[in-house]
Amino acid sequence: MQKTGVVVKPRLKTDAYPTIKAPVSEEEGLPPQPKKRKVRPRTAACRRREVERILIEEELPGTSSAQGQCPQSAVYSSSEETGGSSSNEDGDKRGIHLYKEADSDSDHDDADPNYIPHEGSSDEESLTDNIESGETVRGQRKYIVGQDELLSLFDRCRECGSQAEKKIIRECGTAVEVMATCTNRACRHVFEWSNQPKSANMFLFNILLSAAILVSGCCITKFLRALRFINIAVFSDRTFFYHQKWYLLPATSCIFAAQREKHFKSEMNVSCDMRCDSPGFTAKFGTYTTIDTDTQKVIHVEVVQKDECPNSPAMELEGLKRTLSVLQGYGVTIKRLVSDRHSSIAAFLKSTTIIHYFDAWHIAKGIKKKCIKASNNKECDKIGKWIPSIIRMVYWIGNTTQETEDLEADGELRKQKFQSIYNHIRGIHNHETTLYPKCLHGELEPRDYIQPSKL
Ligand SMILES: [Zn+2]
Ligand SMILES: [Zn+2]
Repeated sequence: MQKTGVVVKPRLKTDAYPTIKAPVSEEEGLPPQPKKRKVRPRTAACRRREVERILIEEELPGTSSAQGQCPQSAVYSSSEETGGSSSNEDGDKRGIHLYKEADSDSDHDDADPNYIPHEGSSDEESLTDNIESGETVRGQRKYIVGQDELLSLFDRCRECGSQAEKKIIRECGTAVEVMATCTNRACRHVFEWSNQPKSANMFLFNILLSAAILVSGCCITKFLRALRFINIAVFSDRTFFYHQKWYLLPATSCIFAAQREKHFKSEMNVSCDMRCDSPGFTAKFGTYTTIDTDTQKVIHVEVVQKDECPNSPAMELEGLKRTLSVLQGYGVTIKRLVSDRHSSIAAFLKSTTIIHYFDAWHIAKGIKKKCIKASNNKECDKIGKWIPSIIRMVYWIGNTTQETEDLEADGELRKQKFQSIYNHIRGIHNHETTLYPKCLHGELEPRDYIQPSKL
């Protein structure tokens, strides 16, 4: 019985509109693989059985175990002996090529004592040898090569010298794979080549480039855009962030955790500062970084969130407290600490035995601001010319005042040197102070000193 009142819409045919397939490769938008790769044998023994099976199925001469010869060695010896002209050689070479194909995607199992690598080892094999030491891959020189120049290398078959059909079968970021097929029907040698080593099915120059971008601190978008301007094959921004998230940052954390404990000493001098996600009083997150001033190595990084503190400026003190607590847990005692001019930090450190210093850059920054403001006044405009000298003198005070046992005397000496700046820019080089009674410089050329009445 037919239903009434129900309209059944006819289904659209699947080919009525285009199908959008999700990218299957690591690089978005790349063409799909030209052929589906075979399931790789896992061990050398599996590979050997696979080769034996292939050779038996092909009924190749010289591969029977009745000859008292290992099938592998038979293949290798036939490769050395044949010259590429007889009908049997075709079968031998095919056997070798099939063996290579079965082995091409597999890593070698060194644990198998019976495994004998092919004499003319595949690229994968030689590259695997290189990637065992990461230094080799990173240290080797790399070049930019044009497509035409690259493909011209595959004009001829590597086995018989006949003309070969070459084509790029895959691009993946900076990687390119070329396949050259011999046109000689008696040979039909297939040669596959890649421009970079591979590990765990990943092209190493891609991840190496991502690592270089990350550690150099340059902008990923601009860097990749610049390369694309001259049509250099590179991966996408998305791939970079994938590398960063899953490989580079975990590796960095792992190495940092392992290395920093080697730098810990019972007594250390450190510099600390916070870097916030936004300036001013609107910061949400801040990373409080601590550097060993003797070795210039980062020994600890603490992340502080605003919600954990009453306000944004308090994040810095919270970061310092946590850092001191962590270092204390490792048995580290801080002797000297350099920080910026946060009053809360200065007040906190007064209650400890840590010798606290202000960063000269922050001192110079404050003085520069005040000098610029004063120089805007018409009567004090000469100060503007003296600002670079004043900044240099601030750094000079920090560099030339050595720490002694008497910290108070050291502080007084720095103070008197600082006061001498006021005299120096007026052309007065003898001061009424006891620890620093006279400028250390010799005779100076005539300069545009500021008149005392102008200050
Ligand atoms: Zn050939
Ligand atoms: Zn002077």
